[in-house]
Amino acid sequence: MVCFDSETMATTTIKDVIGTMTYATHEEKELVQRAFTVAEAAHEGQLRKSGEPYIIHPLEIGRMLAEMGVDASTIAAGILHDTIEDTPITSEDIKRDFGDEILFLVEGVTKLGSVRYHGTDRHNESLRRLFVATSRDIRILVIKLVDRLHNMRTLEHVAKEKQFRIAQETLQIYVPVAHRLGIGRLRKELEDLAFPYVYPEDHERVLALTREHRKHDETMLEKCRKSLQRRLGELHLTKFKTSGRVKGLYSLYQKLKRRHWDMNNVYDYLAIRVIVDSVEECYQVLGIIHEVWRPMPGRIKDYIAFPKPNGYRSLHTTVITPYNRVVEIQIRTDDMHRAAELGIASHLVYKAKQHGVPAVTKNESWFRSLIPRFGKTPEVIATRSDAVTIPQWIKEIATSYTHNDVTDDDFGDALHQDFFSTRIFVFTPKGDVVDLPVRATVVDFAFEIHSDIGEHVSGARVNGKFVGIDTELKNGDRVELETSERTHPTPKWLDFAITSQARRKIRAYQNTHRKQ
Ligand code: MN
Repeated sequence: MVCFDSETMATTTIKDVIGTMTYATHEEKELVQRAFTVAEAAHEGQLRKSGEPYIIHPLEIGRMLAEMGVDASTIAAGILHDTIEDTPITSEDIKRDFGDEILFLVEGVTKLGSVRYHGTDRHNESLRRLFVATSRDIRILVIKLVDRLHNMRTLEHVAKEKQFRIAQETLQIYVPVAHRLGIGRLRKELEDLAFPYVYPEDHERVLALTREHRKHDETMLEKCRKSLQRRLGELHLTKFKTSGRVKGLYSLYQKLKRRHWDMNNVYDYLAIRVIVDSVEECYQVLGIIHEVWRPMPGRIKDYIAFPKPNGYRSLHTTVITPYNRVVEIQIRTDDMHRAAELGIASHLVYKAKQHGVPAVTKNESWFRSLIPRFGKTPEVIATRSDAVTIPQWIKEIATSYTHNDVTDDDFGDALHQDFFSTRIFVFTPKGDVVDLPVRATVVDFAFEIHSDIGEHVSGARVNGKFVGIDTELKNGDRVELETSERTHPTPKWLDFAITSQARRKIRAYQNTHRKQ
């Protein structure tokens, strides 16, 4: 089972990482070893903010990825993820030593580093979309999420004034993405790590509410779990597992805010998970539980028949235990459990051995189609024979978008168009994101920033290179505008300005100045 054990953090070695890859071939293990050798040499002499050797960080990421069971290329890329950005290693070096696939992954993670949250809630949804779009491959997102998890675990060593921004970015961008990818395990830990930095007072308040009961709650939960375990055993269910879980503090906080800060109104603070072999047994266990404990009316949820939008499946019921405490019971199969913990990453994982041969999903094309390359039509995605395995929200992200009226919880479901084939995202020098239609030029970008700037734009540096105002921008470009008091819009600008905003302003300028 997946377990990101933070206790062992300081002592992780490449042996641990490779030791975790029990499913891998000799060549795959060698690849990961080679990635480590290169990364270790490259980061030689660098220190983390904590004072530890830098290599600890990529190693931890390698270990967590290996624990998730993802393929060797992703693990190797995870270990190399900071080399291009922070060491003398170049893209050419990676390509020569590790090939195109790993280069693609490492460069993808590097690029994602420039997607930054700047504290304006207005653009959050754009940012999340950009984050997903920039990844191009779900493996890049998974590496980046694990990277963030390790950075959050070590956030205490970062300068005070940066902590808030990083933690807020985690809650605004990384957590929703992890949630939508269904990676429950990552989401919960990221939330709880960020919580005290972003809402210190609320964090204290939630802690205080839970503290007084914690000991008692945990003992009670364990007693219930044992008695349920016994009961299921008596009924000759043989292959099942039970575990107790206490709701994460941040998730509890969200609920408390909606429930007048009364713990008695929170029914899922304590939960017992029952993991069985088959869907049939899920329903059987539900029946048994209702025989043993009184269920609360209206609290039975069948997410097996009706999965949540992010793919989550389980049966939930809330019961009143003999200790007069309400406990939620979650019943699911092993597969459902794995999917709930790892979400989309579980598809990157080596499948259970079939005919004694491990089946790898890595080369299956379905996840490559998740984030469509620009130009692919949504129909291509929707009609794929393997489309059933693509979570609904991803189909939505790929096929729909409403520009200004996207709400936080709504990943956009009104306008159906191939969002990523019609929009590009470019960066300001500060890393802010501006989204523009495909084929937009420097002039369009300038008017998007401010009409004053638009009316005086004389050129730009795109990714450091000087270009003219008619230059088309590409996804991910970093654009630094140059202005001059002597420059003004001319009718010729309409030949290459394509946004309605820019065209309107250029025409308006012509009209005013013709009259004068
Ligand atoms: Mn990193």
